[in-house]
Amino acid sequence: MTKMQFQAESKRLLEMMINSIYTQREIFLRELISNASDAIDKMYYKALADDGLVFNKEDYFIKVTADKESRTLTITDTGIGMTKEDLENNLGIIAKSGSLAFKKENEAKDGHNIIGQFGVGFYSAFMVADEVTVTSRALGSDEAFVWESTGADGYTIETGEKATVGTDIILKIKQNTEDDNYDEYLEEYRLRSIIKKYSDFIRYPIKMDVKGS
Ligand code: ADP
Ligand code: MG
Repeated sequence: MTKMQFQAESKRLLEMMINSIYTQREIFLRELISNASDAIDKMYYKALADDGLVFNKEDYFIKVTADKESRTLTITDTGIGMTKEDLENNLGIIAKSGSLAFKKENEAKDGHNIIGQFGVGFYSAFMVADEVTVTSRALGSDEAFVWESTGADGYTIETGEKATVGTDIILKIKQNTEDDNYDEYLEEYRLRSIIKKYSDFIRYPIKMDVKGS
């Protein structure tokens, strides 16, 4: 399997995220939940335009699962999902290249506090994870694909399996260092408080499951 390279701009943002001494790392969860919510919105709008598609509110939710044994944090949604092409196009290149320009412009003024002020998106996952796996099955497809990356060295896409339409984003949470605590992103109270702080307005239910001790 060949490893695909990120676009130059994406790569730089990614490096910035990975090496970030950023104090508001917690916003990664806001970004992933907002993407999950957008993906469910897309389902909703599709159903409005398509009589053959019914949007049953109870089928749509976001779930945050922490597993302390495996050090994984998984954000699951029942949204529209991504095809292989979507995974390549949306996660391989930076969607909002404006983010980086904005960051560069403001760097001189305030080096650390910029990220929290705008949507940095999917790559913010690399602030807390050293490996990110995305398993997704798009609406209308019975195939699933697995996108995987350990950071700036690129990503791979393989075929996979998923029983239902939607997306699982699996973060392999970094090990604590002398200076940085990452264990907290596997703690229920901490996750709940981050969700309350940044994602309280999300229209879909956010479920939570924490395993291990
Ligand atoms: P933005 O949300 O501003 O477009 P992101 O970096 O957060 O930028 O996400 C990039 C793109 O990846 C999204 O626009 C969307 O197309 C796709 N994407 C990310 N997460 C999901 C998801 N959970 N379900 C479906 N598509 C997603
Ligand atoms: Mg986003």
